[in-house]
Amino acid sequence: MKKYWSSRIKELEAYVPGEQPKDRRYIKLNTNENPYPPSPKAIEAMQNAIGEAMRLYPDPECTALVEAIAERFGVEKEQVFVGNGSDEVLAMCFPAFFGGEKPILFPDITYSFYPVYADLYQVPYDAVPLNEDFTVPVEEMLRPNGGVIIANPNAPTGIALPLEAIERIAAGNPDSVVIVDEAYVDFGGVSALPLINKYPNVLIVRTTSKAYSLAGLRVGWAMGDRGLIAALNTVKNSINSYTLDRAAIAGGAAAIADEEYFKACCDKVIATRERSIAALTELGFRCLPSSTNFIFAAPSDIAADELFAKLREKGVLVRYFKKPRINGFLRISVGTDEEMDALLAAIKEIIG
Ligand code: PMP
Repeated sequence: MKKYWSSRIKELEAYVPGEQPKDRRYIKLNTNENPYPPSPKAIEAMQNAIGEAMRLYPDPECTALVEAIAERFGVEKEQVFVGNGSDEVLAMCFPAFFGGEKPILFPDITYSFYPVYADLYQVPYDAVPLNEDFTVPVEEMLRPNGGVIIANPNAPTGIALPLEAIERIAAGNPDSVVIVDEAYVDFGGVSALPLINKYPNVLIVRTTSKAYSLAGLRVGWAMGDRGLIAALNTVKNSINSYTLDRAAIAGGAAAIADEEYFKACCDKVIATRERSIAALTELGFRCLPSSTNFIFAAPSDIAADELFAKLREKGVLVRYFKKPRINGFLRISVGTDEEMDALLAAIKEIIG
């Protein structure tokens, strides 16, 4: 079957995304989507973008979206790069910044796409073990390296590093690019965005998939020094000049501009998260402190994989990672209050 595959692909273990089931209706708490709809202004903008103009290619520079990001975050347009989801932005970062002799560094427990990109682009890496309490060992991120990637807050732990820690990593690695993947920062982390004007090696990566309820649109972006952004544009224009379609450019721009709606959604998710952590703790779970829209929780009276399977039978989907150190945990995305109540009721039925 693999006869015609390149040797690089033959060896590759690709990323496996969380299930998007089609067999029945589930309470879906497995891929960290937002339970609330996107901003009505974003929906209107997308609807307006879909029409006769689809005949034409979209703006390759995604000007409307880049401008909305620059305006909202107080950066220059030349400090912004946009892509088809932050996964694509991250994928383009690898050929743009990594690939020397020295290994790049990221934690051993983090977003599992990082080692996949590293393997695809044949970039050597060291997976640095998290501390016993699942925090990132900051000093270890200063070892000789060819680059650093940190998800902050981290996934699937949900734990955030303070800004000083990110600054230490940025300042301690003046010769390599430090990527801070802030997919979940809007739910309680502190952004390292202020560092981009001080450290030309810092790149912040964001997405509309979580806090903006637009996982289906595929819009991500990076903010950093002009030099880093120019490198990303060089990679993009060597692969596909039109990574974002007309609906994504318009909808992404409108969603990012609607700060009030975004803030209200984040507040609701945070309130439900805290209430759910309290309830899970009462049921005997060990919950790591979360600054995200998910809860990393270890049940005490049942194996995590068994609970995962039984919840699935009851129509509740969560995420289980069969990996050392974290195979006793479930990652539970924060849904609506009603969805979390249904989850808690199902857990009570299962554990008795
Ligand atoms: N970074 C992290 C840490 C994530 O968990 C995800 C979502 N799977 C992404 C990036 C990618 O998100 P998207 O491509 O939807 O922007």
